[in-house]
Amino acid sequence: MKVYISTDMEGISGVVVWEQAREFASPHYENARRLLMGDIRAAIQGCREGGARHVTVLDGHGGGYNFVPELMLPGAVYATGTDRRQPHMGLDESFAAGMLLGYHAMAGTPDGMLNHTQSSRSGIRYWYNGLECGEIAQSALVMGHFGVPVVMVTGDEATCREAKEFLGPEIVTVAVKKGYGRTCGELLAPEEAHALIIHGAREAVKRVDRCKPFRMDRPILGTIRFPDKQTADSFRPSRSYRVDDVTFEATFNSPLEIYFF
Ligand SMILES: [Zn+2]
Repeated sequence: MKVYISTDMEGISGVVVWEQAREFASPHYENARRLLMGDIRAAIQGCREGGARHVTVLDGHGGGYNFVPELMLPGAVYATGTDRRQPHMGLDESFAAGMLLGYHAMAGTPDGMLNHTQSSRSGIRYWYNGLECGEIAQSALVMGHFGVPVVMVTGDEATCREAKEFLGPEIVTVAVKKGYGRTCGELLAPEEAHALIIHGAREAVKRVDRCKPFRMDRPILGTIRFPDKQTADSFRPSRSYRVDDVTFEATFNSPLEIYFF
């Protein structure tokens, strides 16, 4: 069985402030990269214990290069780097299951640690066919395009709640922290978080048959909304049309297009 793990930084165990996620010259970011690799190792170990024979891990955060090569686990495949042709590199129909590791709640979630949707600075929000979606739903849609069901999501408690809302009760969620607000809350020791992730991944790979690929009716009507007109004015749409001061809409024929407004 092949498992595809998409990673993000904001929901990794031990990550709680923006310096860890987007200040690339900061020692906090360097530390976050190591925390990321720890959660990844745990997820791979759990997948293998559950019977997976191949694991591809995508470096999905920010500019695209967050992995630390010397902390990679032999035998797994690590997809990383910049200037990508598509957001989920290396993903295809041959994978039986998908996982979202280190994800975060959508923009505006009060108890979502480091919550945002795509841009953590602009406050942009996304809807598809009228349903507001965060990055969990976006990644699940792309995986669903390839017939790949998401079987596990990790992040804070708000992330886990959002994952169940969109993807159903059958998926495994692993809460590695609990937000009080956007940049504060309770952390678990990474060692403890890793044990939970190992256990969760081991269980999740056994649930493939119970989890359905996430899909939406096509064409998909996409909507993005900026918090104010000034921010919207600075946006350069590639395919969307402006419908009011702060809103743009586009029509997508494929889930692979949903990031490109
Ligand atoms: Zn991120």
